[in-house]
Amino acid sequence: MIDGFCKTNVPGIYAIGDVAGPPMLAHKAEHEGVVCIEAIKGLHPHAMDKNLIPGCTYCQPQIASVGLTEARGEKRAAARSASGVFHSSATARRSRSARTRAWSR
Ligand SMILES: Cc1cc2nc3c(=O)[nH]c(=O)nc-3n(C[C@H](O)[C@H](O)[C@H](O)COP(=O)(O)OP(=O)(O)OC[C@H]3O[C@@H](n4cnc5c(N)ncnc54)[C@H](O)[C@@H]3O)c2cc1C
Repeated sequence: MIDGFCKTNVPGIYAIGDVAGPPMLAHKAEHEGVVCIEAIKGLHPHAMDKNLIPGCTYCQPQIASVGLTEARGEKRAAARSASGVFHSSATARRSRSARTRAWSR
């Protein structure tokens, strides 16, 4: 388990890529490497947002996607309305930055 800057719960130990957990994608691994090193160097990178990781499948023809699928989006919206939680985009932004602050601790 890592935070948004690839820190594990062991001080001084970071993890990136497949060993850091899903999604197991090349672009996720590469970007975690950048975020991790920038954090170690004190460059204040943005925290990883797993909702924004592109999925590129290196097949023929190549396939790429980013964000939720329609089915997952509908499932998430249904779960939110079932729990009575409503998110405007401003609320979502606020909770995202709260998450980022929590990660950076
Ligand atoms: C068949 C297959 C197809 C895939 N297709 C896609 C795709 O289309 N798109 C996509 O985004 N992702 C794909 N992936 C996933 C992607 O390859 C991984 O998510 C990504 O490579 C993870 O990067 P990583 O740095 O964590 O691990 P790796 O890229 O596996 O790098 C780990 C490195 O550590 C080395 N290593 C291991 N043990 C030791 C040791 N003891 N000492 C020193 N070095 C060691 C390994 O040799 C390796 O070079 C695919 C994976 C597989 C297996």
